Amino acid sequence: MVTESAHEGKPVFLCDICGFGYEERKTAEECEDYCRTYNSCSIKITEKAVYIPEKPKIKEPE
Ligand SMILES: [Zn+2]
Repeated sequence: MVTESAHEGKPVFLCDICGFGYEERKTAEECEDYCRTYNSCSIKITEKAVYIPEKPKIKEPE
């Protein structure tokens, strides 16, 4: 479930699985679907992240 939060005064949508935050809910939902399916993040999706957690829950593949 994508969580709405705020980062530096702007709303962000957080992927509940990896914790990355996105400007658009749609992108966060894509991330979450990908994380759930592949148990890892898509670099193509995470490059759009506006918020990167200090300790990502999932390591990006090399
Ligand atoms: Zn994710």
